[in-house]
Amino acid sequence: MERRSWFGGFVGFLMLAILGYAGWRTFSYSNADECYACRRPIHAHSRTVAVANGHAQLFCCPACALSQHEQAGKPTQVTQLTSFLNGKALSPETAYVVKGSNVNTCERTPAPIQADKRSVNLRYDRCAPSLVAFAQRGEALEFAREHGGEVVAFQELAAAFVK
Ligand SMILES: [Zn+2]
Repeated sequence: MERRSWFGGFVGFLMLAILGYAGWRTFSYSNADECYACRRPIHAHSRTVAVANGHAQLFCCPACALSQHEQAGKPTQVTQLTSFLNGKALSPETAYVVKGSNVNTCERTPAPIQADKRSVNLRYDRCAPSLVAFAQRGEALEFAREHGGEVVAFQELAAAFVK
């Protein structure tokens, strides 16, 4: 009997600790810059603002924001991009992006290898191929020369997603 109550107290304490941790995590996460769609932390140089479900939301990168549109079936309008070079806000109307370079700010650290899940994880990443934004076409070209990828006007790219 005595042992039982000791055990109960221990379990209770453990539950409280877990709940407290979960609460703290939720709280700290809601304050951090976290992607609306994939919950990845937002890299300061790929931050993207897009209107989803009628509200301006933060996305980890332009690729993720555009994927959101694909998945929800409703148009997601990108309203702000961030320059990869200096972290300054860019207007999507004038920005250029490099698509599919070897730089992906959202790249995850490789998940532990699991025989059955591995192929699934690798097959689709909403942030790939990466889109890296620049204020000027020249900057984008220079970046592509070094890191590969294709330079596209963002408006052109976004229009392709609407189809
Ligand atoms: Zn994301």
